[in-house]
Amino acid sequence: MRPTDAPLDNLHGGRKGQCLVLSAPSGAGKSTLVARLRAEFPGFAYSISCTTRAPRQGEEDGVHYHFLTRETFISRRDAGYFAEWAEVHGNFYGTPKGPVEEMLGKGQDILFDIDVQGAMQLKRVFPQALYVFILPPTREVLEKRLRGRGTDAEDVIAKRLKNALGELKEAANFDYLIINDDLEEAADELRAVYVAGRARAVCRPGLLPGLLAQWESA
Ligand code: ADP
Ligand code: 5GP
Repeated sequence: MRPTDAPLDNLHGGRKGQCLVLSAPSGAGKSTLVARLRAEFPGFAYSISCTTRAPRQGEEDGVHYHFLTRETFISRRDAGYFAEWAEVHGNFYGTPKGPVEEMLGKGQDILFDIDVQGAMQLKRVFPQALYVFILPPTREVLEKRLRGRGTDAEDVIAKRLKNALGELKEAANFDYLIINDDLEEAADELRAVYVAGRARAVCRPGLLPGLLAQWESA
């Protein structure tokens, strides 16, 4: 597998950063799939969101999220700090605009792990990104995974399970639907979407002019 900054692309005028936007009902396995993809493609940049939710055990500020108070989040939101933001399961979440613009300027691929409302906001302003929805195989499996994860209280689990319905109703607006039943198969599909997306003409604006120039100067 070629690394993200493939030498051939650099030879032909560089490539544009690709954005991969992932949404899923809580517990469908999105974090698990994201971790696998990032391990396989270390050059992948990750958009670190801001949230007003309390950190879970093992979560680090500035690594998993930027953990903010509600007041700070609201003042940043009102100052136009976020590319998108949404209230999800009773907490605010948002994607800081600055780092995304900086990473794209460097031609880096970026992964977004955001909810359906945020993904649809991004799609309006950024239609060229890849929009992927991760589905649980069944409602029962989703409930088992939420419980099995052992990170959330019963009332939080119940809220997330209930909210899954509204999220699933938005799935038809995404470009790709991946069912996370067998983890290997789901990870393969996600990798395929990403790798094929990187080869799109829109991500390789310098490729054809670079090659044509060789003929013109021959
Ligand atoms: P999300 O980020 O979508 O909320 P997680 O990645 O935290 O979900 O996954 C929820 C739970 O389900 C975790 O305990 C995870 O280990 C487990 N899990 C994820 N994918 C699978 C799978 N394909 N088969 C079985 N368990 C899975
Ligand atoms: P969790 O609390 O489980 O980490 O995340 C809850 C939900 O918030 C998930 O669906 C996650 O994708 C979403 N989320 C995380 N960051 C953002 C963000 O920056 N914007 C939006 N809109 N949703 C986010």
